[in-house]
Amino acid sequence: MDHLKQLIREVPDFPKPGINFYDITTLLKDRDGFHETIELLKDHYAVKPVDVVVGIEARGYFFAPAMALALGAGFVPVRKPGKLPYQHRSVEYALEYGSDSLEIHADAINPGQNVLIIDDVLATGGTASAVAKLVEMLGGRVSGLGFVIELSFLPGREKLKNYDLFSLVKY
Ligand code: AMP
Repeated sequence: MDHLKQLIREVPDFPKPGINFYDITTLLKDRDGFHETIELLKDHYAVKPVDVVVGIEARGYFFAPAMALALGAGFVPVRKPGKLPYQHRSVEYALEYGSDSLEIHADAINPGQNVLIIDDVLATGGTASAVAKLVEMLGGRVSGLGFVIELSFLPGREKLKNYDLFSLVKY
């Protein structure tokens, strides 16, 4: 996946000192790179049951709806607090300092549906693990967690070891 890696821009010290930010806008604007990203993720999940693709706000939305179209599945957004207009469920998760929460519409997933969760980057796994909890709260079955980028020097994969986890580009 080295050619995809070349399309990902690394921005040191963003959004704060010490963070090396993996910017996927340079991959998204590249016609071949973007299409190949979706094709490769699709090829991995085409053999698995997927009824719904869940995208995590905000950068997960760049990839999850494209994956839903590619797999013939529906798309469900998981949103930051206060954005969803209808009844919803929330989950709180720990950040380096403090905590945050994410929300999903209470009727977004039917019990027993197979759900693929998509985000751009897997770092500590806190976000994806919270989203998996939301899906399971609604009775959904997490059939996979897919990422464009995996930061393998962080313990994200270990945190999500009970799930089928796949990523395209590893650092
Ligand atoms: P985590 O919960 O630690 O796995 O963080 C994952 C979320 O934070 C994803 O939604 C990413 O978009 C974002 N993220 C974390 N670290 C980075 C990074 N170094 N570069 C870009 N995005 C990141």
